Amino acid sequence: MKIGCPKEIKPQEFRVGMTPNAAREAVDHGHQVLIETGAGAGAGFDDAAYVAAGAKIAGTASEIFAAADMIVKVKEPQAAERAMLREGQLLFTYLHLAPDPEQTHDLIASGATCIAYETVTDAQGGLPLLAPMSEVAGRLAPQVGAWTLQKANGGRGVLMGGVPGVGPAQVVVIGGGVVGTHAARIAAGMGADVTVLDRSLPRLRYLDDVFGRQFRTGYSSAGLLAEHLERADMVIGAVLIPGAAAPKLVSRAQLAGMKHGAALVDVAIDQGGCFETSRATTHQDPIYEVDGIMHYCVANMPGAVARTSTIALGNATMPFMLALADKGWKQACQDDPHLLNGLNVHAGKLTYFAVGKALGIDV
Ligand code: NAD
Repeated sequence: MKIGCPKEIKPQEFRVGMTPNAAREAVDHGHQVLIETGAGAGAGFDDAAYVAAGAKIAGTASEIFAAADMIVKVKEPQAAERAMLREGQLLFTYLHLAPDPEQTHDLIASGATCIAYETVTDAQGGLPLLAPMSEVAGRLAPQVGAWTLQKANGGRGVLMGGVPGVGPAQVVVIGGGVVGTHAARIAAGMGADVTVLDRSLPRLRYLDDVFGRQFRTGYSSAGLLAEHLERADMVIGAVLIPGAAAPKLVSRAQLAGMKHGAALVDVAIDQGGCFETSRATTHQDPIYEVDGIMHYCVANMPGAVARTSTIALGNATMPFMLALADKGWKQACQDDPHLLNGLNVHAGKLTYFAVGKALGIDV
């Protein structure tokens, strides 16, 4: 199969769909790999690394779209890319179609077969192609929160780990899923005093079993959260209710009871955010202040560490990419119902029920 990987064109996207190692594996499986020149630059992979892996370099995205049987990307195809997709072509990338009718109609009209990373499942009921980005965002959250806490950034001027004679920062993580667990581990590793609140008792039991005394756990009632807010230096929002907007767990009125200069890091901002005062920000201008409380609400946090994110995503997508290339999408999806769950559009039809329901399109 001919596998094509164009350079991402969405603003501020520095990741790339295939690493040189992924290209090498595909070549070793007997496939041809075509990479757009400069596609890996934002993640620290130059053209030479792809050539050394056995890939060929194309000068433009249109060459890739014209030649490839399968296109591997990171972000949903932008309008110019959608115009180049053709009937029978396979697209493997994040799509997030439910809030995006324009993209959905274009993909249906293209006649291409589109498999979305975010709806591929695993045997544990998880989302294996979303998890690596949650791991990255979770581990990044205390890092950006610590920076937000610095005085020059408007923060409280508190050091995460304290020093001998001065206590550590108080950190509360709301939501103990993938993001929250990784956030708590890193915050605890920085020496902060960390509590994770979740609504799932099985999840709290798991965290307690695995992490013991590294951090505390609490049941996420409004009362307990209010107590923690008053003493927190940093609050990390990491909740998810699948298929729904994030619940607003901290009201504007509650900010008045918090310590001046405390940091709120709302990782759940991509689902609308879990603080009433959250609004999405960018890496260029990530923090703002409301009522003396500093907010960090970047919706694509993994983009800040494009190299780590690219490799992490590549590790997760590689087996699926190889299965699709080796067997063709039909056989690969027949053999793996979890990959089949990724199928969102095929041959002029929407094939994913939740997207159809959200957009009022027949599936
Ligand atoms: P997850 O499903 O693994 O975990 C979510 C957790 O929230 C679950 O354990 C659930 O029990 C808990 N929860 C639900 N309601 C709660 C409540 N009221 N109080 C406390 N806990 C509650 O999800 P995840 O992968 O950890 O993702 C968390 C959020 O981070 C999602 O909104 C996701 O889209 C977002 N995210 C954002 C970025 C970014 O760049 N901003 C990157 C990755 C993920």
